Amino acid sequence: MSHQLPEALDQLSALLARLPGVGKRSALRLAFHILSRPREEAQQLSASLTGLHESVGFCERCGHLAGQALCDICLDPRRNPEVVCVVEGVPDLLAVEATGEFNGTYHVLHGVLSPLRGVGPSELRVAELVERVHGGGLQELILATPISVEGEATAAYIQSLVGREPKLLLSRIASGVPQGSELEYIDEATLGRALRARQAL
Ligand SMILES: [Zn+2]
Repeated sequence: MSHQLPEALDQLSALLARLPGVGKRSALRLAFHILSRPREEAQQLSASLTGLHESVGFCERCGHLAGQALCDICLDPRRNPEVVCVVEGVPDLLAVEATGEFNGTYHVLHGVLSPLRGVGPSELRVAELVERVHGGGLQELILATPISVEGEATAAYIQSLVGREPKLLLSRIASGVPQGSELEYIDEATLGRALRARQAL
């Protein structure tokens, strides 16, 4: 970075530039902005960053982000714990939530199967899902992994593991979802339709 600025500013903007979508110039602008604001704001930001990893973990049941053992969705008595929507990641969960069409709970895999990238079942929260299914009480598992080669392979793999489970309906989000698209980038109306039109496997 430049040598015309104090080290601390250089360092802050270099760290900010590591964030996604933040280039060097906007990182410097953000650093200037933080400096121009009252000291307490910088301290709040700093404290928030420091405590982040301590105060946010993963829900023991579904793998969503949680501030305690279970996430807010799993703890919500208005949600139906018998219907579980299986998604690739937290952004997909948020996309399904944004449709306002889903009243069940989730299981976040934290990835999809990808032999090319060396992602196998043990890298995903698949064993936890099978355990949930075997624990009983589930009525429907909606496989909402992306409509892509990897997403389909992941859905097929899960089907091979729990497809014969008695009294469990397996369904797949409808293929109205554009090919290859990540759920998080699909507009809410389309995703809502894909959920409503899900097909039994
Ligand atoms: Zn949860």
